[in-house]
Amino acid sequence: MERILIIGGGASGMAAAIRASECEANQVTLLERQARVGKKLAATGNGRCNLTNTQADLRRYHGEDPGFAASVLAAYPPRRVLEFFAALGLRTVTEYGGRVYPVSDHAGSVLDVLRLGLEKPNVTVLSGCPAEAVRRDGGGFAVTAGGQTLCADKLILACGGCAGSRLGGVMDGYALAAALGHSRTALYPALTQLRTAPDYPRALKGIRVDARVRLLQRENVLAETSGDVLFTDTGLSGTAVFELSRCAAGQSDLTAELCLFDDPEEVLQADLRTRRGRWPALEANRILTGAVQSRLGQMLCRYAGISGGVSAETLSDAQLRALAKAMRAMRLPVTGVSGFETAQVTAGGLCTAEFDPDTLESRLVPGLYACGEILDIDGDCGGFNLHWAWASGLRAGELR
Ligand SMILES: Cc1cc2nc3c(=O)[nH]c(=O)nc-3n(C[C@H](O)[C@H](O)[C@H](O)COP(=O)(O)OP(=O)(O)OC[C@H]3O[C@@H](n4cnc5c(N)ncnc54)[C@H](O)[C@@H]3O)c2cc1C
Repeated sequence: MERILIIGGGASGMAAAIRASECEANQVTLLERQARVGKKLAATGNGRCNLTNTQADLRRYHGEDPGFAASVLAAYPPRRVLEFFAALGLRTVTEYGGRVYPVSDHAGSVLDVLRLGLEKPNVTVLSGCPAEAVRRDGGGFAVTAGGQTLCADKLILACGGCAGSRLGGVMDGYALAAALGHSRTALYPALTQLRTAPDYPRALKGIRVDARVRLLQRENVLAETSGDVLFTDTGLSGTAVFELSRCAAGQSDLTAELCLFDDPEEVLQADLRTRRGRWPALEANRILTGAVQSRLGQMLCRYAGISGGVSAETLSDAQLRALAKAMRAMRLPVTGVSGFETAQVTAGGLCTAEFDPDTLESRLVPGLYACGEILDIDGDCGGFNLHWAWASGLRAGELR
């Protein structure tokens, strides 16, 4: 019998525990500091859990050495991860962009099947039991947790990162790894909101649009994405913005440029002239009525220097040109990125050079493994981070 201890009952830890328990000679203990396993998982994908992406490959991952993920991703492509979940009873559906969700549209279903998978005679789940210290103990490990000492032959660190702190993201895993001699890179919040100067977004709070977004540093384009943009009381959120946040971390002099309309500027100008002619008595700042949500239309007018209190017929061609330009390029000064509290993922983590990319075993401490977000690998928005959690958890659980 081999005693396997897994610290962290999140996505990667549960996958590792299920895989490790397939060998009946393994006695698996899963330690979770929170009152129940998978608390963060239940909140993923706005409660729907975007559990993987059929397009998951190395190009979607980041870190000091993203190539570290190659072997695990090759061993566990989306097809194999979906087979793992199908065997647990989960029914899934693939949506736009290859994003995979449970058919139930409920993240709880993903958690349910994992918990069911853990219900085995050779698995013990200890919730509400934070691992506080770890040391080498002969050929194995001794972990202090909740006033007791747990001994193991092999140890898997699956503590996640410090992102999503409201859902339990903590620094514990890095400290436990450091106690065993491992180092980490700098940590940054990734897949998070951009903070912008308050003038515009605050009044637009809650409005969601489909837009192209460019991140500019002075006039240089640092990154460009398109998709969902949500205005919040502190700035911009949504999947298109999350993608840019990685490039924004630690930078200054940034501007987010929103292109809210696909049509060329001349076409927009012609449409605005038609609107001016058709509704001459309309209040000028309502000229975009019906083209966008009214609050956004009025905000675009304000941005272009058009105020209410006068009628549309008084608008000059130059004012309509300015408005058409704003519809294609509304610029908002970026004051920073939101912190770990709201970030979906931690960029940076345990130095991957200290782990074997094929087995995820430590190169410094035999019998120690790490998986998931704790490692210096993070993915794009769209199911790629959970994919890494499952793939690396399954690989670590093989205990090769
Ligand atoms: C709001 C939100 C939405 C997200 N949505 C998506 C999505 O739809 N798709 C996607 O791909 N990714 C999403 N992510 C990212 C994804 O959830 C994470 O990348 C993934 O959960 C990482 O898995 P993990 O096992 O490494 O860490 P986690 O899932 O964070 O699990 C780590 C676990 O370890 C426990 N732990 C920590 N320290 C200790 C200790 N000392 N002792 C015992 N236990 C400990 C924690 O309590 C936690 O349960 C989202 C993240 C957030 C915050």
